[in-house]
Amino acid sequence: MDEIRELDQTTIERIAAGEVVERPASVVKELLENSLDADASRVRVAVEAGGTESIRVSDDGVGMTEGDARAAVREHTTSKIRDISDLESGVGTLGFRGEALHAISAVSRMTITTRPRGGDRGTRLRVEGGEVTTVEAAGCPEGTTVEIADLFYNVPARRKYLSRDATEFDHVNTVVRNYALANPAVAVALEHDGRETFATTGGDSLRETVMAVYGREVAESMIDVDARELPAGPLDAIDGLVSHPETNRADREYVATFVNGRYVRSSAARNAIVEAYGNQLSPDRYPFAVLDLSLPAGTVDVNVHPRKMEVRFADEAGLREQVRAAVEETLLENGLIRSGAPRG
Ligand code: ADP
Ligand code: MG
Repeated sequence: MDEIRELDQTTIERIAAGEVVERPASVVKELLENSLDADASRVRVAVEAGGTESIRVSDDGVGMTEGDARAAVREHTTSKIRDISDLESGVGTLGFRGEALHAISAVSRMTITTRPRGGDRGTRLRVEGGEVTTVEAAGCPEGTTVEIADLFYNVPARRKYLSRDATEFDHVNTVVRNYALANPAVAVALEHDGRETFATTGGDSLRETVMAVYGREVAESMIDVDARELPAGPLDAIDGLVSHPETNRADREYVATFVNGRYVRSSAARNAIVEAYGNQLSPDRYPFAVLDLSLPAGTVDVNVHPRKMEVRFADEAGLREQVRAAVEETLLENGLIRSGAPRG
């Protein structure tokens, strides 16, 4: 080993950025969460070349003043919490760490165009490799548009590890889809290379949202899960939709789980859903599911690390049993499985 030395600021920042920004989909996740936290009723995500060339997220949310926008791209700046006591009482927002915009701006060319609700002037702010290059007045609607060009242009090692555009877009699509499903009251649209992939209405109907995201065939095969008599366990309620066993895919990403309305990945919940189908599904096939699990606040920490979307529960076995029972009961009642048949 060499002598110990202190890293320079640029190196420190790019290493830190790597903790938040792994690929285009992680940028999309952070920007989308910011739009939802900003009380948007419409959000449009448009990416080029799977997000490797550009990513644009526009919302009609609360917007920012020039001062807010300048502050937002600095390190550790947030409007969402004040101090640690806010964390103890539980955060209602998707973000709170105050690191995403700064980290993304450190490894890309970022343009923020924004106008506060009711404000009479807009601002355009450009940041390159973490440095603010221009701030100017801009004519723009209320709300915020964040554009990211040339992600990782200054971290060639990272850029090299990006996958094919189609694969990067798959990841983007999964993120946007799941946030759309978790927020049926928000109109969410996704565009790739100028073509619209899907657009939800924001009409607050889960079934309509599933229709917009997955199409009519999948939407029509979805069955309501509303579990009245859950076995004892950590969950208060389970709500949502699961598909007819014949509507299945070889991709587990179509089994979407939410905790208290927030999209999270939980292999325990996913496995429990799949288990309920018993031998109606072959081992490499997965149903479509959009299930919200309600837990009493304080029994789960959903503010997982930005890179780790996987959430862990205190009583995972209890949760698994409740989810399996709820889905199994739903499928049984609809005559889609026979009782007690194990998977495989
Ligand atoms: P965090 O979301 O953890 O607060 P970010 O770096 O993602 O940190 O954002 C910093 C701040 O910038 C936010 O707290 C918010 O005040 C502001 N901001 C970011 N995106 C938007 C947006 N789309 N609309 C309004 N304000 C935003
Ligand atoms: Mg954020």
